[in-house]
Amino acid sequence: MLKIFLFVYGLFIVQACSNLNPHAVSVNGKIPAKQMSVTLVHEHVLVDFIGADKISGNRYDQDEAFTIILPHLKSLYQKGCRTLIECTPQYLGRDVALLKRLSDSSGVQIFTNTGYYGASGEKFLPASILNQTAEDLAKSWILEAREGIDGTSIRPGFIKLGVDDLPFSTSILKILKAAAITHNATGLPIAVHTSKGGKPALEELRLLTEDGVPAGAWIWVHAQNEKDITYHIEAAGKGGWVEFDGIDNSNTEEYIGILHKMKASKLLHRVLISQDAGWYNVGDAGGGNFRNYNSIFDSFIPALLKSGFTEKDIELLLVENPANAFAINR
Ligand SMILES: [Zn+2]
Repeated sequence: MLKIFLFVYGLFIVQACSNLNPHAVSVNGKIPAKQMSVTLVHEHVLVDFIGADKISGNRYDQDEAFTIILPHLKSLYQKGCRTLIECTPQYLGRDVALLKRLSDSSGVQIFTNTGYYGASGEKFLPASILNQTAEDLAKSWILEAREGIDGTSIRPGFIKLGVDDLPFSTSILKILKAAAITHNATGLPIAVHTSKGGKPALEELRLLTEDGVPAGAWIWVHAQNEKDITYHIEAAGKGGWVEFDGIDNSNTEEYIGILHKMKASKLLHRVLISQDAGWYNVGDAGGGNFRNYNSIFDSFIPALLKSGFTEKDIELLLVENPANAFAINR
């Protein structure tokens, strides 16, 4: 009897602890969300824009890509960054074996994703989507989340979608519903590349919440495409994540202006920042012009501090918010 009691009590403790310790999923498996530390939430290491009908891992030399990308990640590690969220979806060059090699060699924890990218006129959606239901799609994404991607045991840390403008097509409605089903089954957060600003973003949020997804599991990717701050305030006020992710050395003032407005609205705790930098571009000789990941560390943080943001604000933007956005609370 006592044994049974201890066993049940033990299970209760394990359950309680796992709830108290949200985790996240890197290409090396489950980690405590706290371990993410300084994080870039939206970057790329390799992208292939050839289109879903022609894409293949044979279109590039993985060893060459590895050699070209690795120094950029090593440099990032030296600057104090510990996690890079790799946002390249399936049919756009997602290569999880390459991501794991790069993570193991650089020390930077890397997250990959499941889901479909329906932006860019749906060029990166496979033709098979026409014959599949949202439930069919969700089934394959949940399988990736539970068992691994492309025959590996590497699992996604989030769901990545892409959408253009309203009105949403049948395929876009399908991927949004599939993401909701996948979230409800796995707890994975849903990051949605949103090409056209606030109206489609708020519609995504409405549709997802209608299907049972909490606002805090939704990330509005490329929120900077919307110039009217009232949309950002509304999305963040509803509990969503608003991601300003195109920072480079030329637009520091613009991003600082946005962040000041979000802080003045007491919504900095719903804001994510990143650079959308990288990447080895398949099809270009040597991967083309790789944009390094250094801007946030070399110029943006010093400029933020100079403009009145505190060390605590920077910790919020680069450590606490990413850990909360990518935590899986189950
Ligand atoms: Zn991107």
